[in-house]
Amino acid sequence: MSSEVSTKVFDGEEASLLVKDLRESFGSGRTRSYEWRVSQVKALQKMVVDNEQEIMDAIRADLARPPFETVVYEIGILKNSCEVALKELKQWMKPEKVKTPIATFPSSAEIVPEPLGVALIISAWNYPFLLSLDPVIGAIAAGNAVVLKPSEISPASSSLLAKLLGKFMDNSCIRVVEGAVDETTALLQQKWDKIFYTGNGRVGSIVMTAAAKHLTPVVLELGGKSPVIVDSNINLQVAARRIISGKWGTNNGQVCVSPDYIITTNDIAPKLVDTLKTELEKFYGRNPLESKDLARIVSSNHFARLTKLLDNDKVSSKIVYGGEKDESRLRIAPTILLDVPRDSLIMSEEIFGPLLPILTVKKLEESFDVINSGTKPLVAYLFTTNKKFKEQFVMNVSAGALVVNDTVVHFGIHTLPFGGVGESGMGAYHGKFSFDAFSHKKAVLYRSVIGDFSIKYPPYTDTKLRV
Ligand code: NAD
Repeated sequence: MSSEVSTKVFDGEEASLLVKDLRESFGSGRTRSYEWRVSQVKALQKMVVDNEQEIMDAIRADLARPPFETVVYEIGILKNSCEVALKELKQWMKPEKVKTPIATFPSSAEIVPEPLGVALIISAWNYPFLLSLDPVIGAIAAGNAVVLKPSEISPASSSLLAKLLGKFMDNSCIRVVEGAVDETTALLQQKWDKIFYTGNGRVGSIVMTAAAKHLTPVVLELGGKSPVIVDSNINLQVAARRIISGKWGTNNGQVCVSPDYIITTNDIAPKLVDTLKTELEKFYGRNPLESKDLARIVSSNHFARLTKLLDNDKVSSKIVYGGEKDESRLRIAPTILLDVPRDSLIMSEEIFGPLLPILTVKKLEESFDVINSGTKPLVAYLFTTNKKFKEQFVMNVSAGALVVNDTVVHFGIHTLPFGGVGESGMGAYHGKFSFDAFSHKKAVLYRSVIGDFSIKYPPYTDTKLRV
């Protein structure tokens, strides 16, 4: 299924023709000029601005997400990415002069960013517009042709993306392929110059294996269990509100940077639970299943996956708040669990939903061992006022990002690279990092034919060796 009206199955042959088309467009040099790049970023910006309501409706159909969240976290960040690219592109494209050593005197050198060619972007369902279009902005700003494959799990968003990109963008260089595993597999069989994938690590490994066949570089934006450490010295109300906002206030926990679990000390845990309950009730009322300010679970498969995490007496007996579900409407209430067994399923896989376990330790320093004993998270959060503990956190915890005294907001800061480490991913994007992700930094050395010293040429005499 391509963005063009077609009844044909999108198979390897179609995929190969599509890449051939785009390779020809790229080969014509069309995408390389500053003017083309700016015109396409502007077209994308206009597409988002002119279609805000349609975008909100599509996301509402896919996730029942409150429009406020879509405006702030999806449309707002996208508009900002366009503005940043338009403001800074000239600077990003400039070759960077670098020093040269005496051994090559006289010479000069520069690093010239060049587009990689034809890029494939495979995106996920949870922020279907942001996770599709933010990398597209990077790819076109860097002068590439690009194919976007949105997620089939958010079908209304996928079809709107195909429709809008088909209408607003230069389709000789920018195309959308809709579809699921078969279509993505057909795309992955082709030779690309960059593959940018957002989603889970199991598919990340499939993507990387396919890319390896053609020595194609990849960016993998994956997930993981992102912890939150809460210290006793913190204003618990502020910490609770910021944790709630990052957990339930962004897609009801279905975000890669969502707080996955909390670590705090035994004495603080009951106070933290009470504060979370009080603030949750203020935000979502006594019956959160009815709240219009909470997104639903995306699909019945994901609903079943989350239900399974609670489907164990040793875990479900630890629920201290929430736990209500409505399968017919795919709704799960904000749920807090205290002291679940560390070897339970809920503590071994990424939750990606509205369940929040709290682990307790005797001393907060132990939390570093808890985090480092698992796979490297996409982000780790800490709430504290203790300067020394902040420093220890930065020194001792390896994650894609670290945030002190807030959650999730780092995603919107374009001067910071966004990406994982280890199992949470490789490569990064946002702002200039997006441009770099889709560029090759070409080393260029200019020598002069003046001063052609003979010392490096044979015959290699003893005198030359001693110089
Ligand atoms: P998903 O189900 O939408 O899958 C992602 C993409 O992979 C889709 O386009 C899908 O069609 C494709 N896909 C699925 N199975 C495939 C297969 N067998 N072969 C080839 N392609 C295949 O999304 P998901 O994986 O459920 O997304 C959730 C995960 O993504 C979580 O782990 C989350 O943390 C992570 N995530 C990471 C980021 C980030 O920026 N780092 C952002 C969002 C989500």
